[in-house]
Amino acid sequence: MRDADDGGAFSLDDLYAMIPPMECLPGCTDCCRLFGVPSRTPEEDARIRAYLHAQGRSILPAQGTCCPYLSEKGCTIYPVRPFTCRLFGTSPTVLCPRGARPLELLHEDLEAEIHSRYRLFWR
Ligand code: SF4
Ligand code: SF4
Repeated sequence: MRDADDGGAFSLDDLYAMIPPMECLPGCTDCCRLFGVPSRTPEEDARIRAYLHAQGRSILPAQGTCCPYLSEKGCTIYPVRPFTCRLFGTSPTVLCPRGARPLELLHEDLEAEIHSRYRLFWR
């Protein structure tokens, strides 16, 4: 849990819930092939490690520019994918290159608040 400026406590899942779900193009994984291993906070890293461990898998290095957790069927760590993956495409500052959008793009004020809260997870 983290404390926001307004004094309210919030979790990583609360933060994720502030991000609108993307309406991706069916079968598209283009952005997963562009940025290598997605950045993640220590808590997100621990979640990914635990998820992989439970499946007898382990952390992988980047595969060139492609995320190592991408398979032909899509993201293999989808339930614990980090903030970076969840935010991509949902705001005017990180638009999807294929033109996909969430139902409603994040307003800049809400995006700023989300980033502000996300930064607290790096401390
Ligand atoms: S955000 Fe865009 S590029 Fe990335 S998977 Fe979705 S549709 Fe494809
Ligand atoms: S963690 Fe999943 S959603 Fe994120 S870049 Fe890798 S394959 Fe894509």
